Amino acid sequence: MAGDELDVAERHERCTGPRGRLIQVGAHDIQSLLAIVAAEQERTTRQIAALEAVVAAIVEGSELVSTDDEHDPEGATIAYERAQASALLRQARADLDALAVTRRQLELGRQVACKDCGRDIDLERVAALPTTSRCVGCAA
Ligand SMILES: [Zn+2]
Repeated sequence: MAGDELDVAERHERCTGPRGRLIQVGAHDIQSLLAIVAAEQERTTRQIAALEAVVAAIVEGSELVSTDDEHDPEGATIAYERAQASALLRQARADLDALAVTRRQLELGRQVACKDCGRDIDLERVAALPTTSRCVGCAA
């Protein structure tokens, strides 16, 4: 399809134009970063499913526990476990959102922009910490 080819060429030109923020290291590195991000998305999705099961099990378990005695130490432990699992779940969902944003930028052939200052995040940092959405300076 000649039309499609023209489109790709045009997009490419826009991406590599002087105003575009280009990844300096070449397509292979974008591909390997994308692979890292995709693997992390998969891992985080599994983690969310597991945490949801944990939270559901804790909720279910706490319903079985008698609430007659409010000073039951087991009740406190369950509340703590539930809060902890919920916090992990929230974090995992935030990670998944951040990964989706990172992936979109990489797929457009761009550097990953810092959520706070808008500057490019080092690719080494993205590779090591794919869920990050802030540059080293802003994360500190
Ligand atoms: Zn920043």
